[in-house]
Amino acid sequence: MQNKWDEVIKLCKSRGFIFPSSEIYDGFSGVYDYGPLGVELSKNIKKEWWKSVVYKNKEILGIDSAIFTNPRVWEVSGHTTGFSDPCTIDKKTGTKYRVDHLLEKINIDCDGIKDLKEIKTLFDKHKKDIKIKGVNVADLSETEFVNLLVESNLNQSKVGKSYLRGETCQGIFINYKNVVSSTNKKIPFGIAQIGKAFRNEISARQFIFRLREFEQMELQFFDFPKKSDENFIKFKESSLEFLLSLGLKKENLRYKEHDKLVFYCKKAVDIEYNYPLGWKELEGIHDRGDHDLTQHGTFSNTKMDFFDEKTKTKHIPNVIETSVGVERLFLAIILDAYTEESLPDETKRVVLKLKPEIAPTYIAILPLFKKDGLQEKAVEIFNIMSENYVCSYDDTQSIGKRYRRQDEVGTPFCITIDYQTLEDETVTIRHRDSMNQTRIKIFDLDKSLKF
Ligand code: ATP
Repeated sequence: MQNKWDEVIKLCKSRGFIFPSSEIYDGFSGVYDYGPLGVELSKNIKKEWWKSVVYKNKEILGIDSAIFTNPRVWEVSGHTTGFSDPCTIDKKTGTKYRVDHLLEKINIDCDGIKDLKEIKTLFDKHKKDIKIKGVNVADLSETEFVNLLVESNLNQSKVGKSYLRGETCQGIFINYKNVVSSTNKKIPFGIAQIGKAFRNEISARQFIFRLREFEQMELQFFDFPKKSDENFIKFKESSLEFLLSLGLKKENLRYKEHDKLVFYCKKAVDIEYNYPLGWKELEGIHDRGDHDLTQHGTFSNTKMDFFDEKTKTKHIPNVIETSVGVERLFLAIILDAYTEESLPDETKRVVLKLKPEIAPTYIAILPLFKKDGLQEKAVEIFNIMSENYVCSYDDTQSIGKRYRRQDEVGTPFCITIDYQTLEDETVTIRHRDSMNQTRIKIFDLDKSLKF
């Protein structure tokens, strides 16, 4: 399919999934808003993740920590010094580029390099080979590291400069003790959280793939250090299973192991998705060892260890983390669901083949015409069905156009109300993927709405 990326971005805007932020004021780069359908899809993705990670695991609990924390959190975790990306600036245009991304374009993998000297040397050596339309290599500045934490001027003079959180998991680490003491949980157990994160990304130019404000769904699993390898494999597998359960295509997902690791990591694997931009990180699974709890324990003078009754020794728990971005998952789901079909009458049909569980609207209620009591009957049905399902109501345009519109936004079922409905209390159900239509009693609707 030609230009799927462009088609999907267009559809996201035109059908109310994703809007560029502050568009009426020329936009605000790296930030997007969810429209009426986008908010539903995003909520459903988060609901499914929460169900799969929290509700289905008796040893995993959820929290919702604040975006602001004492700035010590970010100093102690290492983010104020180590959370940065290599940057170069076009001295003429002011455009900023990530040096590792420029190098990746000529197949030089900079994975995990956090040494400025090392990346500078690489860049200086290979600069001449970078031939990218619009990038004038001769005008690029010296490489420097730019910290990704977003600073705020929140009025807390006692603690100095504060930050918007750069990742949600620090909120989990600083609440570890509170969760243990309030729930009597003993390892192994996990804490999960869904929430906003903010990063001063150098170049956020890839729609919702790289944002400056985004949401993460993270799990930190605490266990005996000797269990780290076993847990790493377990969560690597369960993370992939979850992505597949949302309807992502197996052939568009793969693992990527990391050799060079960021400062907090003992082991890392990404689950990559085959975006039209190339294979890119969708989810990270990390063995964070005891780095975070040790650091926070030491600098806050809090006991983070536990006593192992068997060996009569004390340990700081090992942490296996899974971290997936809501927007990157949202994008992958729409890309995999986006389908163009040629119909026998030689017209083209665009259909989002979303799993019904995550479709923004489950049922569209459509009166055939705007007259003779059909709308009233349709509203009556809307009121009944919306008790249990997310429904939309549409009485504009011809029925054919309305079906196509619902196909484009992935609505699994359309219910059409016509004159026969007024006579015998039956309606037509149209199925999105097969386009089959069946006549059914209103009374039996609930049973028939299974995919
Ligand atoms: P990348 O290498 O692409 O910058 P990362 O390794 O910095 O990503 P992590 O810090 O591991 O990402 O964050 C965990 C997850 O959060 C990522 O797998 C991704 O899904 C999401 N994420 C990270 N940064 C962004 C961003 N700028 N915009 C949208 N989602 C993001």
